[in-house]
Order: sequence, then structure tokens, then C-alpha cells
Amino acid sequence: MRLSIEIGRIMGIPIRLHITLLLVLPLFAYIFSTNEEFGFAGVPSESLRYLLSFTATIAIFISILLHELSHSVVALRKGLEVKSITLFLFGGLASIEDIPKNPAFEFKMALHGPLASLGIGLVLIAIHYGLLKVLGESMYNFFEIVGIINIVLFIFNMIPAFPMDGGRVLRAWLASRMSYIEATKKAVAIGQVLAVAMGIFGLLGYNPWLVLIAFFIYIGASEEGKATEMTVPLEGVRVSDLMTRDVITVPSSMSVSELVDLMLEKKHMGYPVVEDHELVGVVTFTDVQKIPHERRDEFKVRDIMTRNIISVQTDDPAEIALRLLFTHNIGHVLVMNKNHLVGIVSRTDVLRAAQILGS
Ligand SMILES: [Zn+2]
Repeated sequence: MRLSIEIGRIMGIPIRLHITLLLVLPLFAYIFSTNEEFGFAGVPSESLRYLLSFTATIAIFISILLHELSHSVVALRKGLEVKSITLFLFGGLASIEDIPKNPAFEFKMALHGPLASLGIGLVLIAIHYGLLKVLGESMYNFFEIVGIINIVLFIFNMIPAFPMDGGRVLRAWLASRMSYIEATKKAVAIGQVLAVAMGIFGLLGYNPWLVLIAFFIYIGASEEGKATEMTVPLEGVRVSDLMTRDVITVPSSMSVSELVDLMLEKKHMGYPVVEDHELVGVVTFTDVQKIPHERRDEFKVRDIMTRNIISVQTDDPAEIALRLLFTHNIGHVLVMNKNHLVGIVSRTDVLRAAQILGS
């Protein structure tokens, strides 16, 4: 399932276009070419009309890209890894790993995207008025239109609700005066109230867009709330409190059919793989399924295992294990003590602990 394509790299960050964006680009250009007030329908030359509509569409997506890059620059300066920037139908998303729960930093990073949009908007509008003054016309309001859209992006992103940047700014501000968890809960509640109010306004004013945005905000706020609910009970819990200590490892030279027998016997679907007493990978039932039944004698564990080892240290907070399990969508995380494998934490271990401690 590849729903986005990489179009290049900026500052080492892969820039991806989501398929929804490719579908919506022609639609945007079409709207610009047919709208007289906020578009180029009044432009007399047909080819110029389409050129302006097309260029304005591209300019909007470059604006969104600059917004995301602005968030990313703050992250990169802090030494965080920015895995990718994906441009979607309604905007962009910078995928940044392990954002530290540091309110001052989160505040700065969340604010930088909207500030970029505001800056771009103001510059473009200034160019528009500059052209008007000097030339008496301004390329059929091209700069004004793209400028206003950037200002709208600024305002939209500053709505103080998750998943908007404004929600993060609000939480960071609250977190400077209470615990991070409490701040998240408060920010989620504020976002939900705002979403309900927007939804009611939308319904009363017959504005389907507002209803759609309200719905989107409500879901986003609730999801952030759920993620925190999971992490609240795990506060103060270490990986070592949850892990299973007696880990069964398998040698990389074991055949796949032997591995299947072991899985059936132990009723356990994932194993760390060792070679010369060293951890070299992880093998799960998903890997086994890549090999057809009749050929499982021909392949060794080392042929099918995943070499990318996702691990935590024994004294890491349990929440880190939880986050790794969900962001990588995996069933187990290995627990290391320095370089030694000492245990394994599964999704079930973490979820059960969160449930028991949270009740
Ligand atoms: Zn943003």
C-alpha cells in the first residue's frame, strides 16, 4: 500500500505527495479558473487564465510545504529526526520522532508553522499592493489570492484544538502551569467544546464546510485524549516492571519449518534471533507467511527475519515501549540492558498494565 510518492528531499527530509493531493490539484485549478471574485475567471486570455489558476494551485501547496518545513527546522535544530513531510488533501504533515514532552520546545515548534504561513501571507499581500502602486495592476490579484489563503492557513492552524497546531500551542502553554497529562486533558476538552460550537454554527448557518471541519477537530481532539488516557496510568512505570524476563530466542540457522513447530508448541508468535550469542534480528509469524508451506524446509530464519531491531532499555519509561509498539505497528519490543537482551514487552503486557493501573 503506497499511497504517497516521494518527489525529492529538502534538508535531507523526504518530501512526499499523498494520492489525495494529486486528485485534488486539478479540482483546485478548476475552481480558480471559474471563480471570478476569488479566482481568475475574469482574465480575458484563456491560456493566461489557466496558467494563473495552475500556478496559484502549486503556490498553495508550496506554502503548505514551507509551513511544514518551518516546524521541521525547529525539530532539526533540536537534533530530532524528521522522517518525512507528506502533503495531503487538507494540508501537510511532518513526521517527527520522539517529540520531547518539554512545553517550551513544543510551544516553539507548534508555533513556527503558523508563523511561517502568516509571514508568507503578509509578504505576498505586500507584493500585491506594491505592484498595484507601481504598475497600476497586480497580475489579476494573483499575489493577493495566494496571500489571503496563507492568512487563512494561519488562522485555521491556530484554532486552539487538536490536531491543529493551535491545540499543541495551548497544551504547551497549559503544561507550563500544570502537569503534562492534565494540560493535555484540558486542551482536549477545550478543543471538543470548540468543535461542538463550530458544528452548531455550521448547522444553523447551513455551512457544510464548517460542520466538516468541526467533525474533523472533534475526532482529532478525542484521539489525542485517548492516547493520553493510555499513558496516564503508565506514568512512573518502567519497562522492567512490565517485561517478560525469560525470553526464548531462536538461532538464525534454524529452518523455517522448525520455527513453525516452535511457534505451535509455545503458542508464541515472535522471537528474537541470535547468532554467535549476539542479537541479529526478530522473526514473527508474519515473516513465516512469506514462505509457502512446501518450501519451509529450504529457508532459514536468517532469510526471513527482520534485521531492524526495535528495542528499549530496562529503565526506560513504559510509555516509550507503548509508543514504539503503536508507531511501528508491531507486537513486541525487545528489552535490552546495555547490549544484552534481557526481556520482551508485548502489546498485551502494556495494555493490561494500563488497564489495571488505570482502574
Ligand atoms: Zn502546522
